[in-house]
Amino acid sequence: AGTLYVVATPIGNLEDMTPRALRILSEADLIAAEDTRHSGKLLRHFGIGTKTEAIHEHNERSQVPRLVEILKGGKSIAFITDAGTPLVSDPGFLLVRAARQAGIRVVPVPGACAAIAALSAAGLPSDRFVFEGFPPAKSAARRAVFEKLREDGRTLIFYESPHRILESLKDMSEVFGGAREAVLARELTKQFETLHAGTLVELLAWVGRDTNQQLGEFVILIHGVPRVEQEAMDEEAGRVLRILLDELP
Ligand code: SAM
Repeated sequence: AGTLYVVATPIGNLEDMTPRALRILSEADLIAAEDTRHSGKLLRHFGIGTKTEAIHEHNERSQVPRLVEILKGGKSIAFITDAGTPLVSDPGFLLVRAARQAGIRVVPVPGACAAIAALSAAGLPSDRFVFEGFPPAKSAARRAVFEKLREDGRTLIFYESPHRILESLKDMSEVFGGAREAVLARELTKQFETLHAGTLVELLAWVGRDTNQQLGEFVILIHGVPRVEQEAMDEEAGRVLRILLDELP
């Protein structure tokens, strides 16, 4: 059977394309791309002439069996999305799962990922972190997600789109508290790359003031609850529990 290669592409700067990714895209029998027009630009830039086919969120389910048949027939497929690492807030999960279940070899070809790039330069604790992808679009659902993470000790990583950046920062300030330390990573690897650290209210005020800061692509990183505070919360929870247990029959 053929091999399925899951290939990362740049998140802005084309120099982040790795030599290995270029070789695999050139040698594959087929490139399955989230958006063939978008990827066409990248492939033309690097002079890659491999045949491409679209596999996106809306047709992934129906395309998967066919792609698995192609793999079973001995052909190799390189899978790419519009930017960064496939499956990370991107399609591909169904394809990878089905291929693995069919006994096909799945090979990662690592490269850029906005969440990891942001974490690596943010200066927030990086020993433990949690990637939450895009928060829900509606405020109530978004707040519910934040509520569940409010006491998490790990660094929290979110993706956000330009038209929701202000609303999201506002909800974050309210749920996590305005004093919580955070970093906004915008336009990574691109001309207007900005990594701005501050408290959540500072970030909200800064983005609100400067409309230029509302453009582009964002990663939001939030400091987890420091361990001492967490211990204090655990102690308090333990105290309440003991009182409760004493009172229960
Ligand atoms: N698969 C991609 C990855 O590995 O990072 C993510 C794809 S997701 C559909 C797109 C989101 O990723 C953007 O809305 C933004 O939150 C984040 N993102 C992608 N490129 C970025 C960049 N250059 N700078 C900051 N955030 C970026």
